[in-house]
Amino acid sequence: MKNAVSDLQQLIKTTSRIVVMTGAGISTESGIPDFRSPGGIWSKYRVTRIQEFIASHEARRNYWRYKTAVYPDIESASPNAGHLALVKLEKLNKLQLIITQNIDGLHQKAGNNEKRILELHGTELEVKCLKCHARFDRLSIHQRVLAGDEVPTCDYCCGWLKPATISFGQTLHEAILNRAISESKECEAFLVIGSSLIVYPAASLPEIAKQQGAWLGILNRESTPLDAWADWVCHESIGAVLSEALR
Ligand code: NAD
Repeated sequence: MKNAVSDLQQLIKTTSRIVVMTGAGISTESGIPDFRSPGGIWSKYRVTRIQEFIASHEARRNYWRYKTAVYPDIESASPNAGHLALVKLEKLNKLQLIITQNIDGLHQKAGNNEKRILELHGTELEVKCLKCHARFDRLSIHQRVLAGDEVPTCDYCCGWLKPATISFGQTLHEAILNRAISESKECEAFLVIGSSLIVYPAASLPEIAKQQGAWLGILNRESTPLDAWADWVCHESIGAVLSEALR
């Protein structure tokens, strides 16, 4: 780990425009399980595609049951050493942007500037109406579900409410994806943290950066499909490596 950390420190010293792309792995040390690790979310719950959510009352009920079970962990989670290290990176004026696949709001809670955070897959902390697009605070809707409103609907138009996350089968917001692509093209270094790099289009962003000549680093416990292509790969724990690198 020592060599990996000093190589990362060297990169940080000599580079000023770093794009960091985070995945569920950065938040496991805050107690939020990822999708694919043993004990992760997919070992306990079935995925609901957006088409099923729209078509079936039963799917909407099951989806809200799952979302209501996992929300308290997200709401009460605190940023860990990995998140806090990225705040230091911003204070050093090295951070161009955090592109996060996460929906837990922990980069904001840690103290990174909102303008430097791009939530590619939305947020679990808000709820959106699928019909009129009105947005609601998640906690108030969570309380409604707990009080027995199993499939909540919009106060304004009676449309289906859903946490403001991108579900499987749903397309990403065009403006957000376009910004992610253009910032990936402009960076000097692109650092992937805690992502299996198998969810697209997110997984194409490090490829885009590398094709434009950026240095590519991957910090993830398991190997990823882009390891062979990267300039720096580290299979250690995120909190330990990042806090040491930014000590
Ligand atoms: P993923 O579950 O596919 O991969 C996470 C990776 O992180 C794994 O390869 C795992 O080995 C690694 N990892 C876990 N803990 C680690 C640690 N402490 N140190 C080093 N590596 C660690 O997650 P993904 O690539 O982000 O993609 C899947 C989707 O999961 C995203 O769309 C995201 O929206 C969603 N998701 C988000 C959260 C969250 O917001 N915290 C939680 C679960 C899933």
